[in-house]
This record gives sequence, structure tokens and C-alpha cells, in this order.
Amino acid sequence: MSTTLTIQQQDSAHCLHPFTNFKELNAKGARVIERGEGVFVYDSEGNKLLDAMAGLWCVNLGYGRQELVDAAAKQMQQLPYYNLFFQTTHTPAVELSTLLAELTPEGLNHAFFTGSGSECNDTVVRMVRHYWASKGQPQKLEIISRKNAYHGSTMAGASLGGMAFMHQQGGLPIPNICHIDQPYWFEEGQGQDPQEFGLERARQLEQKILELGEDKVAAFIAEPIQGAGGVIIPPDSYWPEIQRICDKYDILLVVDEVICGFGRTGEWFASQTFNIKPDLLCLAKGITSGYLPLGAVMVSDEVAKVITDANSEFAHGFTYSGHPAACAVAIENIRIMQQENIVSRVRDEVAPYLAQRWQELAEHPLVGEARSKGMVAALELVADKQTKQRFAKEVNAGEVCRDICINNGLIMRACGQTMIISPPLVITKQQVDQLVTLAKQSLDDTL
Ligand code: PLP
Repeated sequence: MSTTLTIQQQDSAHCLHPFTNFKELNAKGARVIERGEGVFVYDSEGNKLLDAMAGLWCVNLGYGRQELVDAAAKQMQQLPYYNLFFQTTHTPAVELSTLLAELTPEGLNHAFFTGSGSECNDTVVRMVRHYWASKGQPQKLEIISRKNAYHGSTMAGASLGGMAFMHQQGGLPIPNICHIDQPYWFEEGQGQDPQEFGLERARQLEQKILELGEDKVAAFIAEPIQGAGGVIIPPDSYWPEIQRICDKYDILLVVDEVICGFGRTGEWFASQTFNIKPDLLCLAKGITSGYLPLGAVMVSDEVAKVITDANSEFAHGFTYSGHPAACAVAIENIRIMQQENIVSRVRDEVAPYLAQRWQELAEHPLVGEARSKGMVAALELVADKQTKQRFAKEVNAGEVCRDICINNGLIMRACGQTMIISPPLVITKQQVDQLVTLAKQSLDDTL
């Protein structure tokens, strides 16, 4: 006789979750998210949760946008699938690449489509090496990244990423990738002037280039604001120095805007916020507001010219590179952003309001620092507010706080002892109030 399993039991029996401690999951059973509307999701127990993470930093236009659903359905009826391989193309990919060329910073006029952020970064590794080889400099192989960066989960993505716990599984990083320190002032620069600290961290790039040999370095890759590493907002001195060094040594600057792109920092792209001039720009997540999987590497005219003039093909691509339905959703997503002035609304109204309300949390006894930029924000949890001393690792302060948040109806994420948010860009000021109230209440309950 067969017994009916609950959805949690079926989940434990058959579904292997990403980035999950299975013992903990199986003991508790997964929370089943059933539907979403605006900035809220609803679970199978009837709880309404304010999703301050926009899913995984992606549902920028919020849940339940019928226009995005219709765009996908219409495209699926007309042409659900075709690819860009072997001399074919289709209108959604062409239209989207044209739109992206217009929207992204000057000179990035060519899109290589992928299915995800990780695939973008795999593409980066292969493309920058192919570029230098095509220019007659095949020895330029080294790619410099940063500790604690997150660039995805594929072998190349996780290797570019600087998460030590990921490297420990499976013998990463792959060869010719190395990491310099991150510009994380709160954790690593206390007692030092933040701008000096920013310069010092940026100059590690120069030291690393000289150590590896100027003629060996292909590229430097970084997120404008490190997201999964704990919303690490660099001091203002950091990015101009990085740009100077990349220009001086003629190495490609790759900016991973998988999180920061599409309005999150108050400009269409964070490269504009920080005045960075990337040679390659990685996009995903917010490109479709997460409604369908899609990524794009935007490529400069200079890099594209070398690749397209080369005698050999760029032997790289994915079945779902430029999936027509995903491209149609991305086009509609951009149309809505333009029509509803999402970017200027973030820059001029909601982000300043979030920044002001978020700073109130800095007063809390558990908070060592509250910081935000655009629509990403972090709280550093501390055991001692005066000395900024952290909690002992065994206390799992971040996870405790995260669980309390969710019980109070708020989805925040914990990165170690850093609590982070990245809410949908359509969040209203009233919902920001609600978010801050719930966060404050959760901090009180954590005490
Ligand atoms: N790059 C950054 C900056 C990210 O934050 C992420 C995911 O969070 C990725 C790349 C990987 O994207 P995906 O999970 O779509 O492969």
C-alpha cells in the first residue's frame, strides 16, 4: 500500500538543493513557497513574507507581472526555441542585443548570450584567453580576481570566485586564476582611513600583476559591490585606482554586474555609478527580473573586433544562449523599466529613503555598521558594539537572526555575521518602513 508523502518528504527524498546543508534541511523540512505578488511571497503554511532578497537578487520588478508572463507566452507560441549556432539567428536575440548595446556603458556594443551568471563567467575565461591568443599573445592567461568574490558555481565561475569553502570542494581553482584581497573595510580595515584602505587594496592588483609578469595577465574581474560576499561597498578611492592599473598594464577589466546591473545601484549599471569602463560586462538575474534564465556578456568593440576578425571560430556556446522566450521577457522587462522610470525612481526616491531608514538600525546594540548603496544593504552583527567584536563562530549569530526574521515575516539573508538585503526595485516607501520595522523587531528578538 502506498502512503502519501508530504511535499517536504518528497522534497527530501528526491530533490537535491543547491548550497544546502542536507542534515539541517531534512530535520526541518523545506519551506514551500507557493506564490508571489509584488514584494511578497506566500508559503504553504499561509505565511506572507516580505522578500527583501528579491528571490536571489533577481526579481527586480516584483512577483506577478502579467506583462512578463504574456511576453513569454507569446514568444513560446511563435517560436519556443531556436539557437544562434551555425549561422542562424532570431528576432528576440537581435532586438535584445541592440537594446543592451544602447543601454550599457559606451563601447559595449556586442552581446554574447548565456543561460546564467555562471555561464557568463565561464564565457569570460574562454573569451579573454581567446582574445589575447588571437592578438598573438597566448601567454596572457592569468586572470586576477578577489578573495570572497562570488562569480558562480561552474568550475570556472567558482574558480574566479574567491570563496574558500567552495575551493575546498573539488580542487579549485582551475589553473591560472589567482585572488587578491577584497576592499572590506569593516572586517579588515578598522582603525585605518577607509580611502587609504581602498587604495591599498586596489594596489594589490598592481603588485600581483608585477609578481605574475605584466605580459602574463589577461584580465581582472570583480563585482562593483560584492554581493554574496556580504554587500561589500568599496571606498570611493577603490575603483578609480583599479581602472588606472588595468589601463596602465593593458589588462582587460571584466565587471560582473550579475547582481548590480539593471538599476540596483541607482543607474542602469553600477559601472556608471562607480565610473568604471569595462571591457567585458556580465549580466544576468535582473535582465529578466528572474522570470526566465538568461545571461549576457557585453563585449567592447575592441575585443569583439579581434574575435570576429580572427581566423578561428570562438568554440564556445550553450544550447540556451539567447533563448527566444527569455530574450522576449528581457525586452519586456526593459520596456517596463523604462516606462515606469524604475532607475530614476530608485536613484532619486527609494534608495535615499532606504538609506535613511536603514541607518536607524545602526543604533541597535547588535549592529556594528549599517551600510547601503542603491537597493543593496547590509548590517554587521557584533557581540560588542564598542569594540566591534564579533560573536563566537559557534553561536551562528547570522543564521539565528535570519531564522528570527523569517518567523517575523521577513526574508533577509545571512552571510556569516552580515545580514543583507536586495529588495525588489519596485518596493514602495511604505514597504521600506515595514522592512525596517521587521528588521528592528528581529534584531530585538535576537538579543
Ligand atoms: N556573478 C555574481 C556576481 C553573482 O552574484 C552570481 C549569483 O549570485 C553569479 C555570478 C552566478 O549566477 P548564476 O547563479 O545565475 O549562475
